[in-house]
Amino acid sequence: MLVSAKDMLNKARDGKYAVGQFNINNLEWTKAILLTAQELNSPVILGVSEGAGKYMCGYKTVVGMTKGMIDSLGITVPVALHLDHGSFDGAKACINAGFSSIMFDGSHLPFEENFAKTTALVNTCDVLGLSLEAEVGAIGGEEDGVVGAGECADPEECKKIADLGVTMLAAGIGNIHGKYPDNWPGLSFTTLEAIKAKVGDMPLVLHGGTGIPDDQIKKAISLGVAKINVNTECQLVFQEATRKYIEEGKDQIGKGFDPRKLLAPGFEAIKAKVKEKMELFGSAGKA
Ligand SMILES: [Zn+2]
Repeated sequence: MLVSAKDMLNKARDGKYAVGQFNINNLEWTKAILLTAQELNSPVILGVSEGAGKYMCGYKTVVGMTKGMIDSLGITVPVALHLDHGSFDGAKACINAGFSSIMFDGSHLPFEENFAKTTALVNTCDVLGLSLEAEVGAIGGEEDGVVGAGECADPEECKKIADLGVTMLAAGIGNIHGKYPDNWPGLSFTTLEAIKAKVGDMPLVLHGGTGIPDDQIKKAISLGVAKINVNTECQLVFQEATRKYIEEGKDQIGKGFDPRKLLAPGFEAIKAKVKEKMELFGSAGKA
């Protein structure tokens, strides 16, 4: 069964740990993350970007695959299936398809429009028992081909969106998606503290978890971050393990070409990375 992320995040906030959101791309990704969560007795959030949703043949396929796997693998830890950086239309499509959690990212819109659209989704998600993540202050990254410095959200705007009754709030604190540039100045804890002071109990979300040093992750959790998104890091370890398998010629030995063998090292690498993150975030044993 899929659950809203609300309870797991409120527990994480109170217990001073964070739940990982790990983005999925296909069956191997989903299976690796679910099995690791179960082995570590950790709650987990599966993130699905709109692009990944399309790649996996649409949101209904994603819901069907995930629910089927939870059942077949005997997964009993709380699992939320979450739209990552959704548009307003994407949010509606995921609500209809059976997702249990939604992120509406209106951070690139004028604030009033972000506010209005988030308001509309708060009501819908409330009625359906889904969790809703909103975003204030765009999170930098290389989506447009340029690695921008991470923005810092306006704490006043954070408060306005938090007061709408969203479940969790993503706010830019100098974090960025993808790999961090060498000259990255680090997370802005001043901004994080200012936001926390305004939004009170609202669990905060840290995007762009790939490459943030462990001590900064721990400090962010201590200051109110209860959800951390990890995407690129799983892609990198999958790529590295798959490349190694082929470069060592293992795909040419016996039945090494069998996709179930060819994809196995990458699958194991994702499992190891997710385990490492769940232990770092402190969610292991908290299901
Ligand atoms: Zn993000």
